[in-house]
Formats: sequence, C-alpha cells, structure tokens
Amino acid sequence: MPRTPFHACSLLTFCCLIGVTASVMSGQEQESGRSTSESHETSEPPKDIQPRWWKGNIHTHSLWSDGDDFPEMIASWYVDHGYNFLALSDHNTLSQGLRWMQVSDIEKRAGKVAMEKYLKRFGPSWVEVRGTPTDDDYAVRLKPLNEFRALVEQAGKFIMLQGEEISDRAEGKPVHMNATNLAQLITPIHGETVRETMQNNLRLVLEQEKELGQEILPHLNHPNFGWAITAEDLAHVIQERFFEVYNGHPGVNHLGDETRPGIERMWDLANAIRLGQLDAEPLLGVATDDSHEYHGEPGSRPGRGWVMVRSMFLTPEHLVRAMKAGDFYCSSGVELSSVTFDEVSKTLSLVVSPQPNASYHIDFIATLRSPTNHAPALETIGQIVSSVDGTTASYTLTGKELYVRAVVTSSQPPVDPVFADQRQQAWTQPVGWQVGK
Ligand SMILES: [Zn+2]
Ligand SMILES: [Zn+2]
Repeated sequence: MPRTPFHACSLLTFCCLIGVTASVMSGQEQESGRSTSESHETSEPPKDIQPRWWKGNIHTHSLWSDGDDFPEMIASWYVDHGYNFLALSDHNTLSQGLRWMQVSDIEKRAGKVAMEKYLKRFGPSWVEVRGTPTDDDYAVRLKPLNEFRALVEQAGKFIMLQGEEISDRAEGKPVHMNATNLAQLITPIHGETVRETMQNNLRLVLEQEKELGQEILPHLNHPNFGWAITAEDLAHVIQERFFEVYNGHPGVNHLGDETRPGIERMWDLANAIRLGQLDAEPLLGVATDDSHEYHGEPGSRPGRGWVMVRSMFLTPEHLVRAMKAGDFYCSSGVELSSVTFDEVSKTLSLVVSPQPNASYHIDFIATLRSPTNHAPALETIGQIVSSVDGTTASYTLTGKELYVRAVVTSSQPPVDPVFADQRQQAWTQPVGWQVGK
C-alpha cells in the first residue's frame, strides 16, 4: 500500500474543521477548587463531537532536572496562558517517586523567588518542607506528577502528559530525544555514532510503546544544539518521524550560521533525501519551548513555541494519534483556523486567525522531483513555489513536487522573541507525498 499524508484520517474529517480558542480554568478558579467543566455537570457521554485544535507544549523542564520552578507552578503557568496540554520532559528523569530538594539548591538557580511564589500560589498546607528556613538542610519535596495533576487538570480543558528528554551524547555531541506519554523511565543506551545513538534510543521508545500498548510520541530535539545532528542524520534515521523545527531555547542555533543550514532548511534537505532517495516517510515538524527559566531571567522562557493538534478528545492517546497522522501544525505565534489537504485535488489550503494590527505572508514551499530519478538538485530543494499576502491561501500540487508545506509569517514579532527581527510564524506539515510505490 502506498502511504500518503493523513492516511489515518478521512478527507471528510479535514473539510469541516474550525479552530476553537481554548478556554481553560483561570488561576482563581483553580485555587478555589471550582470547576467550570461542562462534563462535570452532566452524566451523559459526549456525542457528535467535532475535532478541534488543542494547544500544547511537549518539551518542558522543571526542578526534577535543570528547570528552575516546581512542576505544578509550571503547569499553572501554561493553564493561565491558554494551553490545553503540557508534557514535563526532564532530562533522563520522570516526575515519579519520592524526591526532596535542598531549598538552598533551588535558590542557587532562581533566588528566593521560586519558593516564595510556590508558597503564595499553593499555600503551606500543600507545600511540604522538612526543617525550617534557618536549617542548612532545609528541604522541600518535589511532587510527583500523579500527585499534583489533580490540582491542574480539568476534563476537556487541560491535561498533563508524562514526558522524558532522553539525553545522550555521541561523538562528543549532545543527542537529545523526547518521548511524550511514556510510562517507564528510559535510560539512554548510547551508540558509536550520532546516528546509532539516535537509532538505539528511539528503539527503546518503540519497544516500550509496543510492550505496554501505550501510544508514545518520540521526537528528535534541537538538531543544531552543539551542531550535533546534520540534515543527513535526520534523513537516514528513517524510523524517526518527528523533529523540532522550532525550539524556543536561545542556544539551539535555529538560524544556522555561515556554513551550516538553519533548522527549517534542514527540514527540506532531510525530506528531499527521504522522499527523493530513500522512499521513506518525511519528517514532521514540532515546535516546543524547551523551557527552563520561569522567573523572567534570561534564558529559555515558556510561551515561545507550541503545537496545535486537531483531535476530538483531549486525551494523551488522541493527541499522540493525531500527531502521528500529521494532523497538527507548529506555531511561534500565528494561529490558523483551518489547515486542509484535499487528497483528490491535491490542494493544501489554510486560513489564518488574524490578530489585530497584523498582516500575514504565506509561502508554499516544495521540493521538486528529479526528472532522472536521482537525488533532487540542491536548488530545487525547499523552494518557494507560491506566495500570498493575506489570511487565506491554497496550493494545488502540479505533480512535480515531492511534497509541499506552508509557512505563515506575521508582520508582528512574538511576545517574547528569541532572535533579532523574529516574526511570529506557523508551519504546517509536508503533504502530497507518497512512498512505497
Ligand atoms: Zn535538550
Ligand atoms: Zn530540553
């Protein structure tokens, strides 16, 4: 069977979809324990549910590894900022089990503010300490996910997922891969080369998924961090289906440099090899925060990159399945109300949800098939095949493209820009491709 994009969804699903702005529980409602969920008010099971967009971040660090805030504080930040899901993805750590942390160690990262804000938000009956502030070993307990999730989750509005950043090294370079919605810790198993390390750790994720029968989403993180992973590496580890086309950490070399390509260019280079030479499915792009700093200090702050996933239900399984089917887009600020690909006419269409005082530029980017069945020529990789100024656009494939994808750029900068002259963007997934012919 040839495989094409969106194979898990019917065309019908794609033609009647409207983005819905998330409405989540406010901080005030949380603190009072008051629920506004309609599902709490009726015993009827939901019927005739239409797919909708859910906003989420799947790359987040907390005090469980090298982040500088408590996990339930971080979750509250995302609730308060309109997100629907959040995966905590600490380095080689799950938020499980008993863990005490010296308050002095927290102060080394964030000053006194982290503990003060934590106590103010959740109160002394929730915050669990050992000793008194004058003791050298004054400590606070980090709450495991299963303990604090009841405080922040609300059916149909906000859920937490367990994630892990499987953090390995090879050839002196960092090789990091996230697993979202895993159940058991994965200890990195290394490899002789970068590619072998990617393959080995990915295999562990896929084995756990199979063994437990639980949907897990692996994605390769920040390839240009430490200039660790090339477009060729991304192309050749074909079991890897997802990578970070945008990571909000300022240290990940998103734009590349004089001699090395930026991340978005790497996406097209890798997919040109996959579809043009290897007959392998393309990489899909994910945007994340990779957040570490939560108190306004410089560094990797929350709210810079996220995914919008279209599914009927807000559950880990539905979100992961939708992403595996390519039914999501990435954003650093631009919101889309619809993205559709008509399999019959081979037309990719999208509609932007405009923000006040913003104008939009939409590029359709394709890699053209080589007429001689060799690798696509470099100049035909990732070229702009159509551009529109406005909030709606569509592109019909001519048959020459290996795939097409769209990038929307706003005239406005992001709320918290990472690099000079940055503009809000949205990236849709490559469509129109076919493998296994
Ligand atoms: Zn990392
Ligand atoms: Zn990270």
